[in-house]
Amino acid sequence: MGARPLLNRSLAGMGTTIFAEMSALAAATGSINLGQGFPDTDGPEEVREAAVRALREGRGNQYPPGPGVPELRLAIAEHQYRFYGLTVDPDTEVLVTAGATEAIAAALLALLEPGDEVIAFEPFYDSYAACIAMAGAVRVPLTLRAPAFRPDLDELRSLITPRTRLLLINTPHNPTGTVLTPEELAAIAELACEHDLLVVTDEVYEHLVFTGAHHPLAALPGMRERTVAISSAGKTFSFTGWKVGWVTGAPELVAAVRTAKQYLTYVSAGPFQYAVAEALRLPDAYYADFRADLRRKRDLLTEGLAEAGFRVFEPQGTYFVTTDITPLGEKDGVEFCRALPGRCGVVAIPNAVFYDRTELGLSQVRFAFCKRESVLREAVERLRRL
Ligand code: PMP
Ligand code: GLN
Repeated sequence: MGARPLLNRSLAGMGTTIFAEMSALAAATGSINLGQGFPDTDGPEEVREAAVRALREGRGNQYPPGPGVPELRLAIAEHQYRFYGLTVDPDTEVLVTAGATEAIAAALLALLEPGDEVIAFEPFYDSYAACIAMAGAVRVPLTLRAPAFRPDLDELRSLITPRTRLLLINTPHNPTGTVLTPEELAAIAELACEHDLLVVTDEVYEHLVFTGAHHPLAALPGMRERTVAISSAGKTFSFTGWKVGWVTGAPELVAAVRTAKQYLTYVSAGPFQYAVAEALRLPDAYYADFRADLRRKRDLLTEGLAEAGFRVFEPQGTYFVTTDITPLGEKDGVEFCRALPGRCGVVAIPNAVFYDRTELGLSQVRFAFCKRESVLREAVERLRRL
């Protein structure tokens, strides 16, 4: 095949995702997997049954409509109104995708030209870097620095250049658990308007906020026409394997994202789309109980990690907690995570892989708490032995 590398250069060095690598390590070593973020119990029984019913009744077993089944698009529009007072047209302002992952890919491929600059919070969720690269664009990190992990808004202003095309926002933020405040969101919105920037906002953890509240960026003045909002049923309803995500935004933006999306998967998850439509209409008690349950789990794990000697950065949202391993006499999170299964039978994720400047996150390690309490207790027990 000659000297030319097989892999497209935009993907050079990306290898296997850290989540796949660490879940494989957990399986191979029989460790408790607090790495990849997926719950170890499925979501509501009635939602699972709704999927079975759809399958049996032959709803969605053939290609669903490109933008998503009308029932789900309507339920997404109702959800935006119910929780945020946002009115979106289910026909022109909603697009169903194969998880938030496809929404991110389609949005970035649709909206970026080679050479465009994209400002995104570092540490980045891993698919951001890959998708920006596949679009030929350039990522510009705005680092959320320990211990507070807040965005420095003056730094954000200073990073904007004539080549900046898009702000890629993530709130609640994976892996730090930062939830942007109304003031931070307002400042970001103002900069986006002043510099006429597009905004893609990843809000997959919108219902997992423990401190403060989630505020969608699209609700702020001037943002509706420039914001692509992304969410997913995976996190909110604990069905990460169904891969039902969605985009909401102004018709021109959704049309652009749809153009790219139709050549990625075209459509996906037919019967699950009907089930997610039902899930979105669950009563407020479902959302409140889910959040309360996760908050208890967060507290259980954060307290246990602190007792085991980790420095813990308490997350305001998501189902992850970032820690620092320096107090344990450790420096390198990647080495630490590779050795952890052998040392005590627990798997975690080194945050360094989410940084361009790995030295900024070298000693940070992320643990997921979306697991049964008995599992979290056992993990804490094991980690205490370190
Ligand atoms: N964005 C963030 C911030 C995530 O943490 C994840 C994964 N859990 C995704 C997007 C992908 O979501 P999905 O599984 O719906 O593709
Ligand atoms: N979002 C999940 C996490 O951060 C992983 C999803 C994936 O494996 N792509 O753990």
